[in-house]
Amino acid sequence: MLIDPFARKISYVRVSVTDRCDFRCVYCMAENMTFLPKAELLTLEELDRLCSTLVEMGVRKLRLTGGEPLVRRDVMWLIRQVGRHLRTGALDELTVTTNGSQLAKHAEGLVEAGVRRVNVSLDTLDPDRFQAITRWGRFAQVMGGIEAAKAAGLAVKINAVALKGVNEDEIDRMVEWCGERGFDLTLIETMPLGDIDGDRTDQYLPLSLVRARLERRWTLEDLDYRTGGPARYVRVAETGGRLGFITPMTHNFCESCNRVRVTCTGTMYMCLGQEDAVDLRTPLRSSEGNQALEQAIRDGIARKPKGHDFIIDRRRKAPAVARHMSVTGG
Ligand code: SAM
Ligand code: SF4
Repeated sequence: MLIDPFARKISYVRVSVTDRCDFRCVYCMAENMTFLPKAELLTLEELDRLCSTLVEMGVRKLRLTGGEPLVRRDVMWLIRQVGRHLRTGALDELTVTTNGSQLAKHAEGLVEAGVRRVNVSLDTLDPDRFQAITRWGRFAQVMGGIEAAKAAGLAVKINAVALKGVNEDEIDRMVEWCGERGFDLTLIETMPLGDIDGDRTDQYLPLSLVRARLERRWTLEDLDYRTGGPARYVRVAETGGRLGFITPMTHNFCESCNRVRVTCTGTMYMCLGQEDAVDLRTPLRSSEGNQALEQAIRDGIARKPKGHDFIIDRRRKAPAVARHMSVTGG
């Protein structure tokens, strides 16, 4: 069991399997990104060893993310490998966060590997806006991917970043669209992570405002449902769908935090909003046994901070945390 200094049980790990992506979302990446050289990345075998060690140490839920996890070559091999822990009962859940571009190809394979739910990031239902937000994304391809996921029997949760002046007039429509399809919807505030081309203070839209606007049309019933993360959930009475609000900027959720993140280079970040990290790649590569790796994981958890202090700084304009979301995977 992994317990941190504040008695929080660490049962959830998000693992980024690549920093690359086939999209260039405006809030996430600059258009010209320099990605890591291949030798820096954990191999799929190393990722499997890492995930399996975490499961042996008491982690019950793994989420694979990125960059775009489904663009990594042979990623389905890794997903099937990690899926074996679901069949033994050592792992409760294996999920994927994806932009949806490769879902049509992989939805059935995911189900066969034991994945039951996927999070698909989709900020708009308008093809032109979609193009403007993702820069390189193809709307029809993502819609096809979402359909394929549904048809394969995957539960779909849509993640949408609330962006001022970009999609704020569409949130009602997205609640309706998700409700009609039986998808949960989670709204996310922009977080000051990594340099992007634009100014983030222009994009920031507080979800307290979004919620107040939604309440004019929908009946939002508070739910106790918690994931240990920054999301708070309500039930939309009219659709029966679940709606989440991820508000790292306006709320403090750190006291119930049950998670850590590992990047595709094997760096474990104990908090999304802090720089402190431990290197797991060196112990992974230095010996075939897992003892050094386990010790490094324990050392990291012992340093998990109490919380973070995000601010979008209007004067400095610099991100609060220099690394991009595509490094830690959100
Ligand atoms: N490529 C996959 C995807 O888009 O779902 C997985 C990785 S992506 C970094 C994970 C999530 O982080 C996405 O839902 C994305 O919208 C969100 N995200 C990226 N940058 C963000 C930022 N600066 N603030 C808030 N959310 C962000
Ligand atoms: Fe790629 Fe996801 Fe970042 Fe968009 S949010 S650029 S899809 S990693």
